Amino acid sequence: MEFLTIGAFAKAARLSPKALRLYDELGLLPPAAIDNVSGYRFYDPSQLDRARLIAWLRRLGMPLARIRAVVGLDDDAAAAEVSAYWQEVLTDTTERGHLADFLVDYLAGRGGATDATAGFGLRYAARTDVGRVRQTNEDVAYAGHRLLVVADGVGGRAGASASAAALAALKPLEAQAIRPPDLETALAEAVADAQQAVREIDDTGDQGEAVTTLTALLWSGSRIAMVHIGDTRAYRLRDEGLVQLTHDHTWVQSRVDDGSMSIEEAARHPRRALLSRALAGSGHRPDFATHDARAGDRYLLCSDGLSTVVEATAMTAVLSRRTSPDDTVGELIELAHDAGAPDNVACVVADVVTL
Ligand code: MN
Repeated sequence: MEFLTIGAFAKAARLSPKALRLYDELGLLPPAAIDNVSGYRFYDPSQLDRARLIAWLRRLGMPLARIRAVVGLDDDAAAAEVSAYWQEVLTDTTERGHLADFLVDYLAGRGGATDATAGFGLRYAARTDVGRVRQTNEDVAYAGHRLLVVADGVGGRAGASASAAALAALKPLEAQAIRPPDLETALAEAVADAQQAVREIDDTGDQGEAVTTLTALLWSGSRIAMVHIGDTRAYRLRDEGLVQLTHDHTWVQSRVDDGSMSIEEAARHPRRALLSRALAGSGHRPDFATHDARAGDRYLLCSDGLSTVVEATAMTAVLSRRTSPDDTVGELIELAHDAGAPDNVACVVADVVTL
């Protein structure tokens, strides 16, 4: 048997002599022989397999202590251990990716975060009210730490089922740690699920046609993805005042858009509730948009039960007082009641806050 010098062995194993000395000290790969007089280390060529395995595991980034365990295992067990290690690396990398995304936004002064550890969050409240005239409530309202939804079901039981189904399809978004680049895609997929759910209510048949409006915001870091169809609305209160983020899909709004009707005429028109687009079995296309979000932003989502009976100036006044979201929602519903509350009212208020 021909021993190799440490230099020749290192070259064959693609390791440095320095690394070989370290592996010796750690008990990973002791030399086959050491010259008593000179102290030179010699390696047996049969040690090359183990040396190469150690080199590969090092390139994988595996800690030395763990490498010691792996090289002591038979091949099958070693393979399983490498696989388990790599899964841990992938999980850890994903988590650190989320942190990196947050830090980029944070350091760039875009001030936002997906969770409380980042110093920002959403404070929110959601409520629906049957109003003073209707016997049933087909509106739904939901607010969570990253998802805000209002939907106004059209008609009786089928409408109530449709708005509830739309909300149920979106709610799983709340539990997912969605990164800002994936926000729009995740929302679009959930909306496709909502459309399918509404279609299935139609297919069951006995409730009449299932139709609902849908307005929802999905928040992550400094971004908000929005979906909108029908005449429910989203507004944002910021320095410049109250801005309506959605465009009504109503017959009167299309008359306003083509110049054949004034905004005042539209507001008083008897057919003002007639929808030009809605989430229904026939599958109209919703609007999707993305907005930046800042600390201090206040968002309002509401159904037409609020926006058609309460003037924008009155809503702005209530929102600008900056009482808690819960109190604000209560005050807005009270305004609708003062105006007769002829329809169901859905209302969500959310503040982007520094914690
Ligand atoms: Mn309504």
